Amino acid sequence: MRVDAVVIGAGAAGLFCAGQLGQRGCSTLLLDHAEVLGEKIRISGGGRCNFTNIHSSPEHFLSLNPNFVRSALARYSPQDFVALVKRYGIRFHEKHRGQIFCDGSSNEIIEMLHRECTIGRVDIRHPVTVHSISPDHGLWSIETSIGSVKAAAAVIATGGLPVPAIGATGFALDFARRLGLAVTPIRPALVPLSFTSDAFDGFSDLAGLSSPVRITAGEQATDYGHAQFLEDLLITHKGLSGPAVLQASSYWHEGQHIDINWAADLDLDRIWDEKDIGAKTTEGALAMFLPERLARKFIAGLALQGRRWAELSKKDRQRVKDAVTQWRVRPAGTLGWKKAEVMLGGVDTRELDSRTMMAKKFQGLYFIGECVDVTGHLGGHNFQWAWASGYACAEGIARS
Ligand SMILES: Cc1cc2nc3c(=O)[nH]c(=O)nc-3n(C[C@H](O)[C@H](O)[C@H](O)COP(=O)(O)OP(=O)(O)OC[C@H]3O[C@@H](n4cnc5c(N)ncnc54)[C@H](O)[C@@H]3O)c2cc1C
Repeated sequence: MRVDAVVIGAGAAGLFCAGQLGQRGCSTLLLDHAEVLGEKIRISGGGRCNFTNIHSSPEHFLSLNPNFVRSALARYSPQDFVALVKRYGIRFHEKHRGQIFCDGSSNEIIEMLHRECTIGRVDIRHPVTVHSISPDHGLWSIETSIGSVKAAAAVIATGGLPVPAIGATGFALDFARRLGLAVTPIRPALVPLSFTSDAFDGFSDLAGLSSPVRITAGEQATDYGHAQFLEDLLITHKGLSGPAVLQASSYWHEGQHIDINWAADLDLDRIWDEKDIGAKTTEGALAMFLPERLARKFIAGLALQGRRWAELSKKDRQRVKDAVTQWRVRPAGTLGWKKAEVMLGGVDTRELDSRTMMAKKFQGLYFIGECVDVTGHLGGHNFQWAWASGYACAEGIARS
């Protein structure tokens, strides 16, 4: 078999890229080892697929080479993907801070991507095992469980390691290493954090409780630096989760602490000055902005239970304020690949041309989507990278 392009991995990036290739007139074969395609899209966004973020821009991505994303994101924007979704009559809504979700279900996005492939006459084959990919007289020779195929372009779109139960593998990373391409260190990201029981200070009995916080994680000197987010935090039986913690996890390294300000963006001095809180208990003063159970926990930790706010010394008021605004915890670890939404790290972007995603050392070989060292913040940015990198690649192949 001989085609213009073989795309390996029919997830978000691979399906989109294959459709674009086909519609640009390239004969395209799309291979995947899974029985069912698009499983990650199906489970995304709680089943409603947060398929883009209208504010998506380079600041929403982690990469050891932060400028790498600029070209692809500029050429295929969130508005471009929204326009495609509209053409298919898929209804959607904006949630928090530019996050766009389907009104119905993620299946609509999967069906749309399949229809895009059908329009482009893409030949989709699965489940197929890819045994090897090797350069062969200016082409790429791919040995698979359904035979050999030769192609001018080979696109690796096999994603990252999160959720192995639905087919995630390290195929792209292993293949890149075998070719001598650099791969940056990988770790689970957008993942809940776990604690040893003593470090969690008895907070686990508050499981289920959620509150907005300002969270800070990471250190300036480490790989992706540090960042601060204003999001909801969720206490679970195993540790901390919710959007705030998932965001922070991408910047956190083992051994580091994270800082949590439970007052989020509130100015406590102003609130406590303005409101007549003298007659309230200290728990009541905290419950003005915190869930009651959490307020009681903080006050018990400071041994100030039942005391009226008016009775507290200036020093004790400061202790209350410090306890809630400077909560410092040291996670023991993360919940790992099973629970991570994305993989941090991947094929080193310095190996790739940022306009086309082609490997600089290998003509006709491309890496797109999550397998590349580009990781988005929570909120639709990871799918936007899948679409944008897939688009850049298809454009690059069609032009070559
Ligand atoms: C629970 C969860 C929820 C998420 N929600 C969101 C969200 O709402 N918004 C958002 O932007 N991002 C979300 N993400 C992240 C998003 O799903 C990924 O960033 C995106 O799917 C990456 O696209 P990809 O095509 O690179 O990889 P994938 O979509 O993972 O596709 C990779 C494909 O390659 C195939 N493959 C793997 N190994 C092989 C092999 N050896 N041979 C052949 N085929 C192979 C797989 O079967 C799969 O079909 C979520 C992730 C998870 C886990």
